[in-house]
Amino acid sequence: MEPEVDIPYASSAKPTLQNPYQGSPISSFSGAMSVGGKTTSHSTQGGSSLPTSSTKYSSMDLISSGQIKQRRYFDESGKAKQDIDYFHSGEALHNFPHIHYWNWSNLIPRSGAYPAQF
Ligand SMILES: [Zn+2]
Repeated sequence: MEPEVDIPYASSAKPTLQNPYQGSPISSFSGAMSVGGKTTSHSTQGGSSLPTSSTKYSSMDLISSGQIKQRRYFDESGKAKQDIDYFHSGEALHNFPHIHYWNWSNLIPRSGAYPAQF
C-alpha cells in the first residue's frame, strides 16, 4: 500500500460513523455511506485488499484476523467510491477511523486519509 497523507477537515465537518459491527442495512446508499453503515447489498471477504469494482450501490468489508479492517462502497457504475479504514499497519501517525474518497477522473483516484470519528 502506498504511503497515505492525512488531510485535516474543519472539525465541524468531521464525519461521525457508526460502529461497523452494529446496525441494520440502510436502504439509502448515500445514507449508508455517510454514516458508515452497511448497504442492503453488503458482502465480506478476506485477503489483502478489496476489489475496485463490484455490484453497483453495494458495500463490502475486508476482514483481517476476524476484524473489519475496511469498508468500501461502490457507486452507480460499480466503481469504488469511498473507503472507511478502521485500522491498518505501517502508518503510525494515522487516526482511525478515516475515510478515503475515490475520484476516477484523477490520475491517482484514491484520496488521502480524512479523519472521522465514532
Ligand atoms: Zn487509510
